[in-house]
Amino acid sequence: MKIFANSLAIIADLFYTKRFFLKTSPILFIRIVSLVTLSFSSTFAVDKSIPILCYHRFGQEIKDSMTIKTKAFDEQVKWLMNNGYTVISLDTAAKYIKKEIQSIPDKSVVITADDGHKSVYTDMAPIIEKYKIPVTLFIYPSAISNAKYAMTWDQLHELEATKLFQVESHTYWHPNFKQEKKNLSKEEYEKSVHIQLYKSKATLEKKMGHDIKYLAWPFGLDDEYLLVKAKEAGYEMAFSVDKHNANQGFNNMAQPRHMIFNAYDLKRFESISSGKEK
Ligand SMILES: [Zn+2]
Repeated sequence: MKIFANSLAIIADLFYTKRFFLKTSPILFIRIVSLVTLSFSSTFAVDKSIPILCYHRFGQEIKDSMTIKTKAFDEQVKWLMNNGYTVISLDTAAKYIKKEIQSIPDKSVVITADDGHKSVYTDMAPIIEKYKIPVTLFIYPSAISNAKYAMTWDQLHELEATKLFQVESHTYWHPNFKQEKKNLSKEEYEKSVHIQLYKSKATLEKKMGHDIKYLAWPFGLDDEYLLVKAKEAGYEMAFSVDKHNANQGFNNMAQPRHMIFNAYDLKRFESISSGKEK
């Protein structure tokens, strides 16, 4: 800001002095102009907001609103690639939001998939590998190698070995905290929150062999207590689902993501990815 004010003062002085036009060399003039431009851009730079897309399941047939046709997903990623978008990792986005890195590509988008469904392995992964883009998988460990619909630990390892997928936490067994708060005593609720946040992180760290830094809240999020507890548990950032782009204005324990539904056509997808729906 100071540089900006100083440069304005310098250029204002020079402009009001006829000598400026007679005696200033072109190189000095260019230097002054670039100093002012630089000051303008750093003073008024708007921090980018990032659309974070949230997927669940994929398939040839549509069984529910959260299953995206595999072909439609391929078309969505292809559209991003053909229109100058960069799919950045969630880690890069989080670092940018926390100002640990200063810049990201102009048209940045993040892709995440929640719940660890088998179709992530069978249908999503081949497309991700084709386009070589990063994806974060939010996993609740109680389902892995256990529930019929879920992936196995081996499959998760295989996906991470591609260096394109990164496993993060989606609590331990995907509770509905809103219901739990209503139905449980205060002590029971607090104990449940603790287990869901800590046990998930510890189990995933042990099974996947790396730090678990991020959390996706299951269902809705309307309890400030959860935000405090997630931070205490050591999560660096947590994500909800809300129709906004993630940015520095949100609480880092409640950064929004856009849920992608089967009902969305490519036009709606474009509108979300281009940041219009913020
Ligand atoms: Zn979920």
